[in-house]
Amino acid sequence: MYSPAGVRTSPDFPIPDHMKAWVLGNPGELTLKDKPVPVPKKAEVLVRIDAVAICATDLEIIQHGPPASIQGGLPFNKNFTPGHEYMGTVVALGPGVDEYRIGQRVTVEIHAGCGQCKRCREGMYTACHNYGLNYGDLDKGHRANGFTTDGGFCEYQVNNINTLVAIPDDMSDEEATLVVTAGTAMYGLTELGGLVAGESVVVTGPGPIGLLGVAVAKSLGAQPVILTGTRDNRLKMGLELGADHVVNVKNEDPVEAVRKLNGGKGVDYVVECSGAPNAVNEAIRMVNRGGKVCLAAFPHEQVPVDIAHIVRNNIYLFGIRGEGKSATHRAEAFMSQKRFDATKVHTHTFPLADLPTALKYARERIDDAIKVVVKARGVSAASKVAAE
Ligand SMILES: [Zn+2]
Ligand SMILES: [Zn+2]
Repeated sequence: MYSPAGVRTSPDFPIPDHMKAWVLGNPGELTLKDKPVPVPKKAEVLVRIDAVAICATDLEIIQHGPPASIQGGLPFNKNFTPGHEYMGTVVALGPGVDEYRIGQRVTVEIHAGCGQCKRCREGMYTACHNYGLNYGDLDKGHRANGFTTDGGFCEYQVNNINTLVAIPDDMSDEEATLVVTAGTAMYGLTELGGLVAGESVVVTGPGPIGLLGVAVAKSLGAQPVILTGTRDNRLKMGLELGADHVVNVKNEDPVEAVRKLNGGKGVDYVVECSGAPNAVNEAIRMVNRGGKVCLAAFPHEQVPVDIAHIVRNNIYLFGIRGEGKSATHRAEAFMSQKRFDATKVHTHTFPLADLPTALKYARERIDDAIKVVVKARGVSAASKVAAE
């Protein structure tokens, strides 16, 4: 039985010595293996993973490697377990931990910064200067589970207490996996200034972050909130999550449409979540003079940008990484107060053992899949939960 020195456990939550974990071999190759259950150190707990959502970034990491970085290089054939959008139950406490109790349900954010660099000291731990330095002589204690350290496509994982967010009993496992997604949208709006009540916001790209970006902006009091995209079913979901207007860019010019919807002036803020090659040039024309654009997605190639338009119009551009400045805590507060129903973007659930099928659903958007979740327990066959 699992009983490492200095680690507190409880007979209510027996922990095995070994667990099932998906391991990345060559690009695109995942194998279910036995791994030792990891041991929490100071300021860490062991989380029993109850549900993990698949993110577009997971698909990217599994096929191509970056942005994951293991031991300073590509993540292939390094016994690495991907997966980063998970939630679960605290089952063991590292030395000195009294911030959480065994049996407590939590969701996690991804980045535990080193805590000692300039950016971590400013609360910008997703931009930690010691990113990925957590091995050998370079061990700065940085963790980004699923990116630089083992992640959530397994049964147990170690988390720094600063990456935990307590969740209420009436929040489902599936909904809890979406807190970090909503937290990323919240961080974008935080970086834009946060006080968006009464201000106009466009969200471009109705993926999970964009859809929850609409929900968060509306909850913060933005007016109007406009969502642009190419797929009508996603835009309809945006309306259900609080968008005042939606624009299908296949049918109309998005810049003209946005200006028309907001009295011809353009909007105060754009949160860019599409990663489309011309998205930045469109965003800087959707905002009014002095407006702010947050970039939460990126195209794969470099693209020309109209810098002169940005300078002449005093437009601000922000690149954001992940879910910084404890934004997940603010996102969880909205979700536990039922300000919006994040479960609308959850479409399918599979058992952990069926991860390859779940990844296929997410990648090929089979059956209109948006957020696909896998669970280590409680899901029998490949039962899928259809979107309502
Ligand atoms: Zn993600
Ligand atoms: Zn740091």
